[in-house]
Amino acid sequence: MSTRTGTTTERPASDWKPSSGAVDPHRYPDIADLMARLHFAPADGRIWLDDQRMQLIHTSAMGVMRRELIEGLGIERARGLLTRMGYNSGGHDAELARRLRPHAGLSDTFAVGPQLHALEGMVRVDPPVRMEIDVERGHYLGEFIWRDSSEDEEHIRIYGIGAEPVCWMQIGYACGYTSVFMGRPILFREVECRATGHPHCRIIGKPADEWKDAEDDIRFLRAEPFSRGLTATTRKPAEKSAQEHLASMFEDGAIVGVSTGFNAVCHMVRRVADTSATVLFLGESGVGKEVFARTLHRNSPRANKPFVAINCAAIPENLVESELFGVEKGAFTGATTSREGRFERADGGTLFLDEIGILGLAAQGKLLRAIQEGEIERVGDTKVRRVDVRLVAATNLDLREEVKAGRFREDLYFRLNVVPVKVPPLRERRDDIPILMNHFLGKYRHRHKRTVTGFTARAIDALLNYELPGNIRELENMIERGVILAPSGGAIDVSHLFIGGENLHSVSFGLSGDGRVGSGGRLDADGGATTGTDPADVIRSITARCEQMMSDDENADAVSLDDIETSLETALLQSAIKRAKGNLSAAARSLGLTRARLVYRLNNRGLGQTPN
Ligand SMILES: [Zn+2]
Repeated sequence: MSTRTGTTTERPASDWKPSSGAVDPHRYPDIADLMARLHFAPADGRIWLDDQRMQLIHTSAMGVMRRELIEGLGIERARGLLTRMGYNSGGHDAELARRLRPHAGLSDTFAVGPQLHALEGMVRVDPPVRMEIDVERGHYLGEFIWRDSSEDEEHIRIYGIGAEPVCWMQIGYACGYTSVFMGRPILFREVECRATGHPHCRIIGKPADEWKDAEDDIRFLRAEPFSRGLTATTRKPAEKSAQEHLASMFEDGAIVGVSTGFNAVCHMVRRVADTSATVLFLGESGVGKEVFARTLHRNSPRANKPFVAINCAAIPENLVESELFGVEKGAFTGATTSREGRFERADGGTLFLDEIGILGLAAQGKLLRAIQEGEIERVGDTKVRRVDVRLVAATNLDLREEVKAGRFREDLYFRLNVVPVKVPPLRERRDDIPILMNHFLGKYRHRHKRTVTGFTARAIDALLNYELPGNIRELENMIERGVILAPSGGAIDVSHLFIGGENLHSVSFGLSGDGRVGSGGRLDADGGATTGTDPADVIRSITARCEQMMSDDENADAVSLDDIETSLETALLQSAIKRAKGNLSAAARSLGLTRARLVYRLNNRGLGQTPN
């Protein structure tokens, strides 16, 4: 094999298969080599990425800066400054790339950029949609999908969804990284952005001279005298009251969130609230579709009229029609009195039909007539009654599929699907979890009159890393359980939240004792006794440190024998218990210890648990 470092070997296209939206992190090389370059030195007040000093900055602080820049300097100059900051970071990372992956192929070396971009917490970068790279010929064509951009998040939080892409700093990063990597100016443009309502951002990069109107973008890379305009603080904020309006709109706290996914739904709700359009909420069970429907109603001109909700799945099939449309006395056995249905009760207001996808075909036909003509007939009645109802529906089914399968009327589907609003699952809006945790803690502390203080650190870790398949409803149940089970005056711990059966396998990255970022906080579903760090990772890390120390490398990090002993013992104890499925006697045997000795060591290491 010829050396590839710095050469222009074009990797076969099969290296980068087009990504169809599904994220497959395995198409990127293992990120462990990059993570190993990240060092935290808290005693020195320093964080290092290889030889570059880094900082952890609150995303919200970046948001403050962004807002002041936009309002103080104007959008053009703010954008320019942020683009150049990103360019600077990208350029530095490109310098690292070849050093970090000296023996990798060109594509894997290039992947350092997207992977560092993600590691630095800016954005998740899917493996490339398109990627052609030939350094020697100066040929570059890249197309990437960005997910959960931190820049979008802050921008949307402040200004809401707008008309222009806003990932300026990140575009700067991509330009800087690729230009430095390629040794010639490569210009990226954001052709889709979450801040313009797209589900993710999409960027395309090619040499600057291959773009039409490249000057439009390149000007942002040119620094201007920063002082100019700084005194012009009286400039009017661009969209000042949008966020304030939103805050007051939802001030009763019924819906809670900060994430972009959440905000996008709020903006959609706000946009359609004052119309009479039919709205269809889509999303998994437990994501809070009814709460959004109520919010929609409260912010509509019908706010003073009734909001009537009905869950179609909760009513027996044969009673759905009489529930919806009412029934005349004598219509069927048991119909001893006439009574109005939900449509009549919702007259002038809003009718919310949850789980609309499971309605039978007969009921669907009547529903369609009610929406189209504003007319209903009670069951067993021939009299036509006029109703004025705004219909809001929700489903967790794919109605298009239901139509295809012949279970749902196509005409009704089109009638309902005028304004579809997708409510994302909680795992796609994890930023909302801490806020929801706090919200439900307060709610149930009050309801159950408990003096629970809050959550333990590992309970927070566990919740932030748990997939939450049941979404907000599951989170709410867990926290209610936690409030009830936690000791009075104490905090909710993992064992109060999880009663077993939950799939707790997410891994977060934590700071290990030697200042390296490693996988930590891995949780096992078998009970509240969480293990701190995955034993296998610990042992790998110990081995690596020992090897490094025994090598000839004079720059090898010093090791602490005490630390290594402690980590090794802890890891071995944990893996033995895990392998023995919690049976301490069996675990002790596998370690050549008596059960009593094992318990003693566990207690010594702070791993004590109820003996079984
Ligand atoms: Zn974007």
